[in-house]
Amino acid sequence: LNTPLIFTGAAEIITGRHTDERGVLNHSAIAIADGRVAAVGATADILAQFASAQQVDCTGQVITPGLVDSHTHAVFGVWRAAEYDMRSRGLDYMEIARRGGGINASVRDVRTRSESELLELALPRLEAALASGTTTIEIKSGYGLDVESELKLLRIINALAERTALTVVPTFLGAHDVPLDYRDRRGDYVRLVTDEMIPAVAGEKLAKFCDVFMEPGAFTAEETRMILEAGRKHGLLPKLHADEFENSGAAELAAELNAASADHLGAISDRGIQALARSDAVATLLPVTLLFLGKTGYAPARRLIAAGATVALASDFNPGTAPVPNLQLAMTLGCSQMRMTPLEALVAATSGGAKALRLEDRGVLEPGARADLVVWQVAGHAEIPYRCGFAPIRGIWKGGKRL
Ligand SMILES: [Zn+2]
Repeated sequence: LNTPLIFTGAAEIITGRHTDERGVLNHSAIAIADGRVAAVGATADILAQFASAQQVDCTGQVITPGLVDSHTHAVFGVWRAAEYDMRSRGLDYMEIARRGGGINASVRDVRTRSESELLELALPRLEAALASGTTTIEIKSGYGLDVESELKLLRIINALAERTALTVVPTFLGAHDVPLDYRDRRGDYVRLVTDEMIPAVAGEKLAKFCDVFMEPGAFTAEETRMILEAGRKHGLLPKLHADEFENSGAAELAAELNAASADHLGAISDRGIQALARSDAVATLLPVTLLFLGKTGYAPARRLIAAGATVALASDFNPGTAPVPNLQLAMTLGCSQMRMTPLEALVAATSGGAKALRLEDRGVLEPGARADLVVWQVAGHAEIPYRCGFAPIRGIWKGGKRL
């Protein structure tokens, strides 16, 4: 058991729970012990209660929960900058795919690389995520699209958990796209996912979630339902890439299937908003992707919040459409492009992300929560999204240990 620590003097402590003034504590301190938050409250009370604790002076700084990035594709081979060049010249997604780009470029690349090679490529990317304040990260498979390659990716994602200080949450995304050799027999691919991949993934306990890219051109509602129900039968909780560019009722399906989250939502309908608000599915917004693609169809964050949906912000880190593992930038865009307040953005990037990953022990600074916290070298919490992806960090504690 370690000596308790108390963090004193902070200009603000952001609890991660509330998006109004209850979520910002002044003249307060946090005590942590044995990897957990022991108490949060008025400084004098905490000092009296933990008289023998070591103090961390946070004068003029801000403390938040560690950020929770609930949607990434962080394990891949090479970057895809050549595609970025093509896109800058006006080539569209279909033309880029025809020239060998898109998801299938990463699939070809991943299939040729060894487990250890892909693991070494991923490590510095996770270190970059950690350096910008992320302490828990979800990572999806989906660049394998055959049984062996999907299992390989998930084994890497699980192995990464042993190699970094981050908590890594694995998601099976065999239904990321229909691979090229199944284009004229997509039913066979869906059966490969439901009858072979899912049982193998569950058999090795390689994933917590099963995700599907439901979108015209990717998977239909019927295929999505089959895959997510097969996943659930094997203990994998459903998640969806939903209504990204076109509305196809994916948010409604997420609510109906009691999914952990519906992600993207740039084209969500009013019915979809109401359905998510009535369900436990988190609305996960990924604005970095839209910025990067030069699109303007941001998700209706204000309407989702007004309806009562739980909103999360995530990075969507991937080599095609969001090549930066930085949740701070997602918060900036949440404020600048979707009119969230800085406090709403912080709550979405902490407890919102934790709920989207069905992790009840983090994303908040409350007694009993994991002592994952970030001390920011900023004068107030608004400065975190305001600094546009580069708010300075004074220190990160993960499970009570300073990194
Ligand atoms: Zn994604």
